[in-house]
Amino acid sequence: MEKINLPGDRKRLEDFLQNKKVDYAGELMENVNSIIEDVVNEGDKALFDFTEKYDGVKLERLSVDKSFLKTSEIDEELLDSLKVAKRRLIDYSKSQLDKSWYKRNENGGFVGEQITPIERVGLYIPGGRAAYPSSVLMTAVPALVAGVNEIVAVSPPGKDGKINPTVARTLDLCGIDEVYSIGGAQAIAALAYGTETIKRVDKIVGPGNKYVTMAKKLVFGQVDIDMLAGPSEVLVIADETAAPDAIASDLLAQAEHDPEARVVLITAEDDIIMEVEDELEKQLEMLKTKETARSSLENYGLIIKVGNLDEAIKASNEIAPEHLELIVNDSLKYIERIKHAGSIFIGKWTPEVAGDYLAGPNHVLPTSGTARFSSPLSVNDFVKSSSLIYFTEEELRNTFTDIERIAESEGLPAHASAARIRLESTGDKND
Ligand code: NAD
Repeated sequence: MEKINLPGDRKRLEDFLQNKKVDYAGELMENVNSIIEDVVNEGDKALFDFTEKYDGVKLERLSVDKSFLKTSEIDEELLDSLKVAKRRLIDYSKSQLDKSWYKRNENGGFVGEQITPIERVGLYIPGGRAAYPSSVLMTAVPALVAGVNEIVAVSPPGKDGKINPTVARTLDLCGIDEVYSIGGAQAIAALAYGTETIKRVDKIVGPGNKYVTMAKKLVFGQVDIDMLAGPSEVLVIADETAAPDAIASDLLAQAEHDPEARVVLITAEDDIIMEVEDELEKQLEMLKTKETARSSLENYGLIIKVGNLDEAIKASNEIAPEHLELIVNDSLKYIERIKHAGSIFIGKWTPEVAGDYLAGPNHVLPTSGTARFSSPLSVNDFVKSSSLIYFTEEELRNTFTDIERIAESEGLPAHASAARIRLESTGDKND
């Protein structure tokens, strides 16, 4: 991992921050745009063609058989663990859910918000290099708790034309039975615009590779999306009390995700740096994912040596990481000073992997510094609100002069008369 000192190597930190930006332009955008156009113009045919081209398989049908979802083989103990994770996610999501509210005014009227679920949601479950049953839970459970009426899932097929069996059974565990074996930009286009077989959705959520992410960016507006996820990141702030082997294993847990995953260690301790570097070498050798992890550490790993914990927190706030681990003495004391992070893992007993699978909060998190302005995926991403306004005659009489004044200042006389005419009207006085 590259090492820098702060505040001295400030320019290098700025380069690192700059380098995190995902490139959403150029050739990638053109390719993905043309995939979307083909799906819009040719519907199902384009889905069959792109699946053959990019997944190397000739599908006979797009939809996944319900019996496949119910009967695919899964290790029964794994199924039990997924049930534990699901239960904990449900609990967390229920506590999060926004409720409708009303506030009466002194004239008998009220204002408020009515919360309603989004009607139809599409989950993108990545396939390709690995199977992600946890991504099924993290996207499906908040949608279920929010009360979404129709939940549909897409996931790319393997060479046998079928979606991953573990993903299939996890979808079944969540009661999702409308599933299509398609992936990539074509799947996002189908969800956004619809085809002969697939009815379009109102919102698309879920992580994926650069084609999926670019497609989500391009269809935003036609449908809503959750976020644009870049490569995974972890940032560990450690003091002299932290265990170097635990720090190293947490860095590797992130690095094995993706050769472009970003792992950062910030500490004021030279000994910790030395020991973590030794541990990384030792533990890397034992990983079957070592190629990916090594590439991430070599190209995107950064060790930042600071003078003290205050400087560590300052640097972390600048980076605004997806996952932040605080492995420091008296860790609870520092939480409120963390301004920007997708998820904060507090203390030495809280490995980041607990959040990946079953702590309760969602593992779909803002990356690439976007934690400055956005939040983890939540149950509230699957609802929307309508504002409610109920005026009584008295409330309208009390506010009419202000309404009229503002309407006239905007040069909109019909606005003013829309309020006045009610007060002058002799029509029925129903409520
Ligand atoms: P994927 O499902 O995202 O992409 C596979 C699809 O990409 C294929 O179906 C194919 O249609 C398309 N594709 C492949 N090559 C293409 C090309 N040259 N042109 C156009 N389309 C092409 O699966 P993946 O590739 O394994 O990526 C999964 C991603 O999801 C990884 O980056 C992983 O880190 C990420 N992920 C993130 C989280 C999270 O919560 N942040 C969780 C799980 C996975």
